[in-house]
Amino acid sequence: MTTHPTIHVTNTSSSRLHGLGRRWSALRSPGPHLVPHLDGPVRLALAGVDHQLMYQEGRLQPGSLMGKGWSAWDKPRAVQRGDSLLCTCPRLNSPRWTRSCHLELLAHWLVRAGWLVVLHGRELQLTGEVVTWADCGRLYRPGVWPAAESTSKPEQVGLFRRSS
Ligand SMILES: [Zn+2]
Repeated sequence: MTTHPTIHVTNTSSSRLHGLGRRWSALRSPGPHLVPHLDGPVRLALAGVDHQLMYQEGRLQPGSLMGKGWSAWDKPRAVQRGDSLLCTCPRLNSPRWTRSCHLELLAHWLVRAGWLVVLHGRELQLTGEVVTWADCGRLYRPGVWPAAESTSKPEQVGLFRRSS
């Protein structure tokens, strides 16, 4: 396989940036109003997990990264192409944004693990040994939001575009 499955990483309120698949929670307890809208937690995506170690152990790879429904009886299921990993932090470029979300750190390792990560609507890619923003080629640094080069992708609208 040469194609990397897409995973959408963003916040719960940016529903137009979500994928068409399952909506996994990156929070252990997202709040009762959100639970019905989320398929369950991805334990390795929770804050406090050593994402680098999980990457090194091969547990973030497509096929290995697992989610599980909210019920104690639910069985773990692999996170799949088109699924979303969601948190309740403000987006990177939002006026409410104050600090880097743990998902922005995780995104880096998901790219290395073989996912095509769409972070807040923008693709990240592995360029040689480093993770870069696909639309402008800039080095990816969690918490830094470079301007997209609108000339590189004609379908792009503003900062965001929908991945296909
Ligand atoms: Zn967050």
